[in-house]
Amino acid sequence: MAIAGPVEEIDRHAHTRPRSAKLHFFESAVGHFALDVESGTIHPLPAAHANVLDATLRLGDPNRAELAALAFGIATPAAMQTGAPASVPVKAISLAVAQTCNLGCTYCYAQQGTFGGAAGSMPPDVARAAIDRLVGEAASGESLTLAFMGGEPLVNRKTLHASTRYAAAAAAARGIRIGFAMTTNATLLNDEDIALFKEYGFILTISLDGLQATHDNLRPYRSGKGSFEQVARNVKALLAAEERRYRVLARVTVTPKNLDLPEIMVGLLDMGFDAIMFSPMLSAPTGEDEMDTADLDQLLAQLIRCGDNFRDTLRQGRILPFSNIITTLQRIHYQQRDQYPCGAGGGYMGVSAKGGLYACHRFVNDEDGLMGDVFTGVDQVRQSNWLDSRHLQKQSPCGTCWARYLCSGSCHYESIKRGRPACDYIRGWLNYCLVLYTELLRTNPESLRRIMTIH
Ligand code: SF4
Ligand code: SF4
Repeated sequence: MAIAGPVEEIDRHAHTRPRSAKLHFFESAVGHFALDVESGTIHPLPAAHANVLDATLRLGDPNRAELAALAFGIATPAAMQTGAPASVPVKAISLAVAQTCNLGCTYCYAQQGTFGGAAGSMPPDVARAAIDRLVGEAASGESLTLAFMGGEPLVNRKTLHASTRYAAAAAAARGIRIGFAMTTNATLLNDEDIALFKEYGFILTISLDGLQATHDNLRPYRSGKGSFEQVARNVKALLAAEERRYRVLARVTVTPKNLDLPEIMVGLLDMGFDAIMFSPMLSAPTGEDEMDTADLDQLLAQLIRCGDNFRDTLRQGRILPFSNIITTLQRIHYQQRDQYPCGAGGGYMGVSAKGGLYACHRFVNDEDGLMGDVFTGVDQVRQSNWLDSRHLQKQSPCGTCWARYLCSGSCHYESIKRGRPACDYIRGWLNYCLVLYTELLRTNPESLRRIMTIH
């Protein structure tokens, strides 16, 4: 009779957990590699060297591994010590023109647009004050961005249209370039909106959580009725417009209820979106539909399946507009080493319907991200404190993580509200992209070159 021994749990993330703060070793189909974390350089390694370094790290001795790497010709520079800036000029704002929404998504960070307060719309004078401040503080020749968020921004169509025209005229008068963006649930779009997007070259992000059944389950109208049919009709009209000068992107918020990412990706590509992006739901005000560790493991596996589709399609010379992979390959290629994950609280701020300035659209009405108001301007003390406390070097445990300059500490909102539950997922995905990058560099450099030119 066979005696069952203890079942050893397989740690599926062991190969991507940080073993050295300076080096990350990985293997792809074209060899062994070391990522020098500080410089972002990827060094090829002979298998024998890789084995020695791996064995040293298994002993839990990163210093010895770094010395051995030095002996193999990989000099790791000292950690970058970049202090936090005291202030950063604001170059992009989002206006919460409607702090209300016609949908009733369970996980909504904006709590159906109200951000936990009363529903409301941004009056035109608040929007104008925000735009005057944005444009007035910029110099001729600079580029600015004005985004519209909610709730659902099209609930307040009047302010959205008027603000766009007002901002375009104000920027033109001062020789400033301004770009426009909007995140929308796409249920309320009409021809007048499409004409506006065309005239001003909007970047539109459509919140879509899957195909019909999934989307209807996650993003119903407040009545409970599904919204997918209306969204699909409106997206079709958006994408069919002649000479369209705007881009239409799909953003999928991934919850435990819509983890069938490859199927969703194929469906959204068939709808004709210019780009598709998946983003996990890590922190919902109600806690509902947040991803836990097991969900994040599944998300990584599913995202990798999408990555494999991307890789297979690339072999046929076609680049799928899969933003998660394209932006990560670009970050790796350009050796980006950002000290913040995004511009929140620095060059980017969110404006509430009443004119409050917040670190970003997710912090609207939240004291944690309060940055002043559009009438008196950015509170310099608050901004300086934010920039200092949110700097990568102050984030834990990021200082010892090999992924720190590619991840930059992850979303401020999520790490403040929930901590960092997604690090294994983040590193697993970055590792997948590093592997793919080295393979493309060797076997398909022309495709890699084309990927680097995508905006
Ligand atoms: S948040 Fe990013 S940089 Fe920080 S520990 Fe997690 S994966 Fe590493
Ligand atoms: S803090 Fe998070 S939600 Fe806000 S802009 Fe940055 S990444 Fe986006």
